[in-house]
Amino acid sequence: MRDHVELYFGRAALDVWLTPELQTSYGDSVEDLSRVALLQFAKARGLGAARPGMAGLPRRPLADLAQAAAEGLRVFRGLRVERIDEEPSGGFRVEAIDDAGHRSDACFEAVVVTTPAREALRIASSLLTLAERDAFAGFRERPAVCLSLAVDGVESGIPQEIRFARGDGSLVGAFVVEPGQLLGRAPEGHCQIVALLRDAASERASREADDVVTKRALRALARARPDLEERVLGTRLARSIVPFFEVGSYRRLERFFRVQQDRRSLGRRLYWAGDQYAGAGFEAAILSGDRAAAEVAADLA
Ligand SMILES: Cc1cc2nc3c(=O)[nH]c(=O)nc-3n(C[C@H](O)[C@H](O)[C@H](O)COP(=O)(O)OP(=O)(O)OC[C@H]3O[C@@H](n4cnc5c(N)ncnc54)[C@H](O)[C@@H]3O)c2cc1C
Repeated sequence: MRDHVELYFGRAALDVWLTPELQTSYGDSVEDLSRVALLQFAKARGLGAARPGMAGLPRRPLADLAQAAAEGLRVFRGLRVERIDEEPSGGFRVEAIDDAGHRSDACFEAVVVTTPAREALRIASSLLTLAERDAFAGFRERPAVCLSLAVDGVESGIPQEIRFARGDGSLVGAFVVEPGQLLGRAPEGHCQIVALLRDAASERASREADDVVTKRALRALARARPDLEERVLGTRLARSIVPFFEVGSYRRLERFFRVQQDRRSLGRRLYWAGDQYAGAGFEAAILSGDRAAAEVAADLA
């Protein structure tokens, strides 16, 4: 992405426009990021179009949506799948272990694996072809650290996203201010701030204690919100691993999906969903879930 943007739009566009624009989804390691990630992102958002798409925040917690979508389904929680094997008579046996350490298994006609890539490789390893193993070995991840702050008082009636320019030395790449509202994620009269650390800072944070990372992030935020520290009511640090779309990853995905077509045509009812198969963020995860659902429906019809 860096080479592509510098060549076509110049260094300033990379530093103060396109990296800040994309970093909350794809991270700011633009030296290694696939330019396809940028093109996909630009297309999805309508960047440069006469009426670009606006970024938005859900009014209510997304957990409500997940809950509603799962109503009527049998959902087992606190159950870790240990392995998936093909049954000699067709279908799959799924072995799992619960929080108390009890093992169980069950058989299914079709299986959709929606765990992160590394875990998918571990649990479905006995089912994979050599080409699929290669594809899984090629999936890359990066640590992502977010600091959420419950803040006293409201800054504005509408959500805001503030982004720092690339290379400005700030440990925080961007933050979102979410005003509180009735039934919202933050109560009325308060607001929530979610700050995303830059890739290098997230990487370093994996070796640091929560309070050290929190203190540093608060200091970085003070540049944009000098009075913030006195208004903070509570903090929560979220550490996570998200997919990284380095140069070549979309080519690998294309090869991976060609293998899937081949396996499906031979009758294998095994599917994959998750953001790592589509792009960064919830929307990509949903897109990939839709794709898997359509494939299952078509194959079982
Ligand atoms: C702090 C943070 C903030 C984010 N903010 C945003 C945002 O504002 N907007 C946005 O679009 N995206 C955001 N994202 C990205 C978004 O969360 C992901 O893109 C999305 O959750 C990906 O969905 P997924 O289904 O692919 O994977 P996940 O949500 O990671 O789901 C994988 C699931 O697999 C389960 N699992 C793993 N192993 C097993 C096993 N062996 N057996 C059973 N289950 C297993 C895990 O428990 C997990 O529930 C954020 C991510 C983080 C970490």
